[in-house]
Amino acid sequence: MRAESVETVRRILCVFPRYTSSFGTFQYAYPLTDGVQAFMPPQGLLLIAAYLPANWPVRFIDENIRAATTEDFEWAEAVLVSGMHIQRQQMNDICRRAHAFDLPVAIGGPSVSACPDYYPSFDYLHLGELGDATNDLIARLARDPSRPERQVVLKTADRLAMTQFPLPAYELAELRKYFLGSIQYSSGCPYQCEFCDIPGLYGRNPRLKTPQQITTELDKLLECGIRGSVYFVDDNFIGNRKAALDLLPHLVEWQKKTGYVLRFSCEATLNIAKRPEILAGMREAFFSTIFCGIETPDPVALKAMHKDHNMMVPIMEGIRTINSFGMEVVSGIILGLDTDKPETGQNLLEFIDASQIPLLTINLLQALPKTPLWDRLMRENRLIEDEGRESNVDFHLPYEDVVRTWRACMSGAYQPGKLLARYEYQIRKTYPNQIKRPRSRQQASWQNIKLGLTMLRNIFWKVGILGDYKIEFWKFALRRLARGEIEHFISSMLVAHHLIMFAREASVGRYNASNYSIRLREASVPAE
Ligand code: SF4
Repeated sequence: MRAESVETVRRILCVFPRYTSSFGTFQYAYPLTDGVQAFMPPQGLLLIAAYLPANWPVRFIDENIRAATTEDFEWAEAVLVSGMHIQRQQMNDICRRAHAFDLPVAIGGPSVSACPDYYPSFDYLHLGELGDATNDLIARLARDPSRPERQVVLKTADRLAMTQFPLPAYELAELRKYFLGSIQYSSGCPYQCEFCDIPGLYGRNPRLKTPQQITTELDKLLECGIRGSVYFVDDNFIGNRKAALDLLPHLVEWQKKTGYVLRFSCEATLNIAKRPEILAGMREAFFSTIFCGIETPDPVALKAMHKDHNMMVPIMEGIRTINSFGMEVVSGIILGLDTDKPETGQNLLEFIDASQIPLLTINLLQALPKTPLWDRLMRENRLIEDEGRESNVDFHLPYEDVVRTWRACMSGAYQPGKLLARYEYQIRKTYPNQIKRPRSRQQASWQNIKLGLTMLRNIFWKVGILGDYKIEFWKFALRRLARGEIEHFISSMLVAHHLIMFAREASVGRYNASNYSIRLREASVPAE
């Protein structure tokens, strides 16, 4: 559903801020593609854009693709912004630019909902999810498009049921310029890991869309030009296991209908390994990757952070079980925990070798507001407000040692030879367990063939000829070519190249050691 139509028409400019370069934005992969410029279409802002009254013209701009121009601001009567903590600096910058045109600016989304005080200049703060605060905002803009005298804070008390959500306005985004598609089935997570703000922000009882909403969204994503992979951005895909089981047959049917042109990925807790019936359904629906917050291989640390559910099966066994259903595990890892010891970094590198997980997002612990960790560190007087620091946590180990360990782990884990060996493992042991997709007209379309050829050319030229890890690259490449593993070669090289380049810069201190850090750096994913 949409907001009720109102007689007054307002022109709304939705602006999504640039990302500060991070491990998870994959910007080093973009030059190997056919013009990708941004990571994922932002669900929240596209949802709000779709919810606005039907008679309100909306422009959507993702500043990772192009910056909002003078003409955009002159056209608009109000500006809406949304984003995560990592985009804080850029969101405040959009506000400043919009104010130069005397426009009212509203901000919503996860960052402002958790930390309203990060955004003192905005005219409207929209805290919480889509709901009564959104209707209030629309009514206020309809009544008066001038800037209010002082900041207005609107907090959602009555959330719109997800079954009532409109289809995100994917038609406003240039989907072909995104690395991945995105979709959301549920919101919230039943667990309470100490460092995580999801239960506090979105609740412990996951809210859900219907399977029919999801297949209709997938239809729209395809129509609007998405290709390759679609990521379920749900906080925990098995937060409600029954709901996941209900959805999967619909996804399988949808894949059969559309010729398996898309592959899926999601985030889920590692105890998914105890649910072979879910894993089997995911395999059938062609899920190829699951992001699991393994966080640490140390059971004492898992207990301390209230992540006992990661120990419901031995970690290595859980990873192998997921691999046996054809899905690669991507892992979140945290360093700087109270339980860390001087040998933690070395233990992590051994775990990476043993698990054969290619992609691990290794972050320093950062305390986020609205988490039990924040409350505990506050009580212990261990929160440090210093924007020049890599983390706001006063670690038990010396700060310099923790940062040095992080850099050493990034450098060690992403040595080209080591990383490509882990991909080799996945190509030999995991991917052969995927379903054999029936060959379809859609997969063999001229567009797909052209895309594959373009990426192959770019990979060979930019990595194989111009790159500086040629020996490791060609060893990997020649084996793939000899075995006809072209698709796996392309997909693993896109990610591997990003990881290698990013880790290199990170290990000499050019990037933040936490994706959640508020450390201020230049946004280095440039808008054109
Ligand atoms: S399982 Fe994941 S989403 Fe759920 S509380 Fe823990 S870290 Fe957060």
